[in-house]
Amino acid sequence: MQPAPSHAVLLEPVRLGPVTAPNRFYQVPHCNGMGQRDPSAVAGMRAVKAEGGWGVVCTEECEIAPDSDVTPSIEARLWDDRDIPALARSAEAIKRHGALAGVELAHNGLATANRYTRAIPLSPSGGPVEACDPVQARPMDLADIAALRRRHRAAALRARTAGFDIVYCYAGHNLALPMHFLSRRYNTRGDAYGGSLENRVRLLRELIEDTKEAVGDRCAVAVRLAVDELMGPEGIVAAEEGRDIVALLAELPDLWDVNLSDWSHDSATARFEPEGWQVAHIDFVKSVTSKPVVGVGRFTTPDLMARLVRTGVLDLIGAARPSIADPFLPRKVAEGRSDEIRECIGCNVCVSGDFTMAPIRCTQNPTMGEEWRRGWHPERIAAAERPRGVLVVGGGPAGLEAALWLARRGHRVDLAEAGAAWGGRVARESALPGLASYARVRDHRMHLLRQMPNVALYLDSPLDAETALAGGHDAVVVATGARWRRDGAGRSARLGVPVAAQAAVFTPDDLMDGVLPARPGEPVLIFDDDHYYMGSVLAELLAAAGRRVELMTPAADAAHWTHNTLEQGRIQARLLELGVTITPHRALVGVTADGVEARCVFTGRTERCVPAATVLVTSRLPQRALYEDLTARRDAPGGPALALIGDALAPGTVAAAVYSGHGFARDFDETGGPADAVPFRRELPALAPADAP
Ligand code: ADP
Ligand code: SF4
Repeated sequence: MQPAPSHAVLLEPVRLGPVTAPNRFYQVPHCNGMGQRDPSAVAGMRAVKAEGGWGVVCTEECEIAPDSDVTPSIEARLWDDRDIPALARSAEAIKRHGALAGVELAHNGLATANRYTRAIPLSPSGGPVEACDPVQARPMDLADIAALRRRHRAAALRARTAGFDIVYCYAGHNLALPMHFLSRRYNTRGDAYGGSLENRVRLLRELIEDTKEAVGDRCAVAVRLAVDELMGPEGIVAAEEGRDIVALLAELPDLWDVNLSDWSHDSATARFEPEGWQVAHIDFVKSVTSKPVVGVGRFTTPDLMARLVRTGVLDLIGAARPSIADPFLPRKVAEGRSDEIRECIGCNVCVSGDFTMAPIRCTQNPTMGEEWRRGWHPERIAAAERPRGVLVVGGGPAGLEAALWLARRGHRVDLAEAGAAWGGRVARESALPGLASYARVRDHRMHLLRQMPNVALYLDSPLDAETALAGGHDAVVVATGARWRRDGAGRSARLGVPVAAQAAVFTPDDLMDGVLPARPGEPVLIFDDDHYYMGSVLAELLAAAGRRVELMTPAADAAHWTHNTLEQGRIQARLLELGVTITPHRALVGVTADGVEARCVFTGRTERCVPAATVLVTSRLPQRALYEDLTARRDAPGGPALALIGDALAPGTVAAAVYSGHGFARDFDETGGPADAVPFRRELPALAPADAP
């Protein structure tokens, strides 16, 4: 199949110094929570991207020397030659599929506390490290700068030995020492490396020159630069110093990889920024340099990508998240199957892997991080040995994913949904402020399911055990989801709290059903013991509807878990701007007809407030009645196999529900290993000899 004519430009090769990218699809460096702990898993993940058509596939940050370690984050490492084989595994895997392999050499300066090595962090002028550790960095003298250059050069040579085609000098995200030198707030030096912009650029210039001199014959040298920190005059501003930095170094690197800082601006979620929001900040770069430019913006729309190339904004379409959600995005464009792209929903669940030191996961792509560990592929699955008839009950993320991949294996699938629309929770939640993109979880799967001859779809079909069994299926998969609790049960009150029958108490499900508690101008209390997005999204909804909203939570801040998705600061700011009162460190004691009693989580002291209505966002109850009825009848001879998946098994994220449905489809009717065996491959450390140097 051919690409759409308007997309053909995306498949053109691009020369990058001594190497050539086969097309314009460029997977920029991205972390993955696996790094140097799981090198084979990383290689498996990167290989699938290359197979899926990304012309360039890069590593995550790669520590160049022990005086910069990013513990507890798990990134790549090239401290000495013994680190080469792990990196070479990724480079080989990427190149096997014809892509170029890039490595993002990084020194984190005062962004990190060096918790593992205990080396004193390095910085232009000293000061506390950015991590909240009780650690200050020391200012670098000229010998330190010379040592840094030596180490960067040595790491570049190792990268070349490992097989990389593109070697980065990293000055992005406020995470990199060269960026600390660029910055007036970190760099107050009075020598040749401080003061004027020319002086502050000196270190980055020297690192680029060193890298070119060391490996530039075989490798392209890329610079990753944050051209704007979106913090006004205290930081780098694109229209001023951002432009001047690019101008000063314009023709030196072989490639400019430009973005925003900090990471929360670069990887903004769909709740806060639309596709392509960085364009307005970086579109000047090509007017200042003749070198190729790559930029990101959660691009999932080939028309927009092609337009950005044609209008001279970008030469290469950078992507981290779109390549995570769909490693085969470029292939789909190349084959004229753009309608099959599994579009990133911009939720940053992938980012949470980095913050939680856990292998990367993705809401849209459940195979992410499981390529090597479980042998899962984002586009392929083994055909079933014996095609079976399977009934899937529930058309939410778990049910849709299970149905799709069971059908791809060749099973005959009947999918029944009680409601009048597909999508379960993602259909409901996508109507809430900022969550429209969640509908993509449904839309992608429905688009494919509707084309499959071995799938029958039934809406408006609430099934009980009798009807579920009447079809004579070989298996019934129950994906009936979960409902929010009304009794306050959650982390801070495991058994719930007394809630008076006549109290005006609501759940998120009520609001998603269209109920708006209280009247405009009246106070509404949201008690959030869930700590993900729901409480804050409902606060937005109610504030927009004119209610006076208080968000009360046992945590220290609103939507506490969203620190892991880079959203917390923006959520808190938005709520404050909307006039929402945020009351931290309070647990619920009870709700009576005339008020709400709460207690301080530290002192236990109680207090009372009198909202017109209370919304409880605490935890969810799995909907298991159907499954329990079916299991009660299991003893009948010849009954189907039964399974419970998704939120009905255990309520969690949308990502977890999709993963549950996917895993079921993979394992269904397979013999598998011994029941108690570890269900995936692990990378075990090779023990050093006890007297190793
Ligand atoms: P998950 O996240 O696990 O996919 P959801 O709550 O999103 O769960 O979706 C569950 C879906 O199951 C909902 O759309 C709901 O209408 C549907 N459902 C629940 N019970 C039944 C039933 N007995 N028969 C058919 N569909 C059901
Ligand atoms: Fe996109 Fe969410 Fe997947 Fe990350 S986890 S790639 S933001 S869909």
